[in-house]
Amino acid sequence: MRIAEHVVDLIGNTPLVRLNSVTGPGSATVAAKIEYLNPGGSAKDRIAVKMVDAAEASGALKPGGTIVEPTSGNTGIGLALVAQQRGYKCIFVCPDKVGEEKRNAMKAYGAQVVVCPTAVPPEHPDSYYNVSDRLVRETEGAWKPDQYSNPAGPESHYETTGPEIWADTDGKVTHFVAGVGTGGTITGVGRYLKEKNPDIKIIGADPEGSVYSGGTGRPYLVEGVGEDFWPSAYDPSIPDQIIAVSDADSFDMTRRLAREEGLLVGGSCGMATVAALKVAAEAGPDALVVVLLPDGGRGYLGKIFNDNWMSSYGFLREPLDGKPNQIFV
Ligand code: PMP
Repeated sequence: MRIAEHVVDLIGNTPLVRLNSVTGPGSATVAAKIEYLNPGGSAKDRIAVKMVDAAEASGALKPGGTIVEPTSGNTGIGLALVAQQRGYKCIFVCPDKVGEEKRNAMKAYGAQVVVCPTAVPPEHPDSYYNVSDRLVRETEGAWKPDQYSNPAGPESHYETTGPEIWADTDGKVTHFVAGVGTGGTITGVGRYLKEKNPDIKIIGADPEGSVYSGGTGRPYLVEGVGEDFWPSAYDPSIPDQIIAVSDADSFDMTRRLAREEGLLVGGSCGMATVAALKVAAEAGPDALVVVLLPDGGRGYLGKIFNDNWMSSYGFLREPLDGKPNQIFV
């Protein structure tokens, strides 16, 4: 019988699927790695297990302890799954731009959620970085994984995501594209693939305005990617190139992925796909571009997939056939 002992054992080994409709003529093959098929719904499940394992081994996290982390949601859900399995409590701190659905999801898994303003600099006492530090000081048995500096983040992608991509493409991958948030994904996967074949190109996708693509950290709406500081989980020597993508293009592609490819995914997936399609157009038909799609679209139904929200920011573009996709009767 094939019965997993616990849902945590189902993390990883996500599939690749070819993108067929959004790619242009003469493009490279583009294969999307579908991370929403992880049990917590995102790539962050991978780093959650690895960070908890490392903290247990070092003694930083003791039985009955509390995990306190600033997270935009996905890392929280991954940590909550592992916490349930191993008997820890969770307190998550997230910026107010994070959708209510995502916050409720973290609560559904049994976590406590603290919300902080987005529009303050990282050094501000109310910033989500500082609030989480204060909660760590005030909570007994608290441990802060700190996905921004924890080496277990990139290591988890080095040990799982990278080898999966190498194996599932029979070593034929020529380019890897991923959005950059903490930088853990691109650092871990990129390091692994470059060790296997130094000719593989590693490309980061970044929201316009974020520091990775030379921005000042000005706000953007795509969630989970881009930063206003340089986290140590990110090794800037790994990517060969960083491509900046606008919110409008990211969200437009996110909607196309659902409508044309059957992939209901999050906004950072649309962003990474825009970058991957640019890379694929330049690389030509013999190349094999793998793009990592970090999470699913259910957490964004009230935003990216809501026509009113999209038009309130001027993002709504007419469908290509000119027909509206909603009929009012
Ligand atoms: N997309 C989403 C939705 C995320 O939550 C994250 C993680 N912050 C990323 C992309 C980027 O991944 P990483 O932190 O590994 O750079």
